[in-house]
Amino acid sequence: MSIQPVRLYGDPVLRTRAAEVTEFDERLRRLIQDLHDTLDDQRGAGLAAPQIGVGLRVFVYHVEGRRGHMVNPVLELPDEETQDDGALEGCLSLPDGLHYPCARRRRAIARGRDLRGEPIEIRGEGFMARCLQHETDHLDGRLFIDRLDAEHRTEFLADLEHQTWYTAHRTSVHTDRDDSKGVFFKS
Ligand SMILES: [Zn+2]
Repeated sequence: MSIQPVRLYGDPVLRTRAAEVTEFDERLRRLIQDLHDTLDDQRGAGLAAPQIGVGLRVFVYHVEGRRGHMVNPVLELPDEETQDDGALEGCLSLPDGLHYPCARRRRAIARGRDLRGEPIEIRGEGFMARCLQHETDHLDGRLFIDRLDAEHRTEFLADLEHQTWYTAHRTSVHTDRDDSKGVFFKS
């Protein structure tokens, strides 16, 4: 069991498209176990590999009593129906109550591989469909706050300025950039 630190908004890994998994090996099995352990610790509904700093197309979910994982998912949205009932969406990479209404499709189908490389499919409706859309977004470097309407996007940006984890992180990111620039110019 290995609980990993969850990467927070502002970390570039969350904005980077994750790579396809090509080796269905022990390393992948350990990654999936770490994702489950971390998600249990955080009591969330889903967790994608980039959220623990691993740029691979893998996520796990704990939704309505179902636990599972998916590797290299491809999402299909089978119809146009949406769930825009004001349900609040959040993200473990945006902690401390940053929840906003986010319109999603009502139904989603994810097709991918399991840890052995066998084809699997998850059909989701409602909350599960929301989870599948949220987690596959993570693998493309997209976050749910990108999908908010203008009003809630403005609210989010204002709320963010009051988050000490974010303002502290932003300072450290700037420091890192300055350091790397210095190294670059020296070489
Ligand atoms: Zn998330």
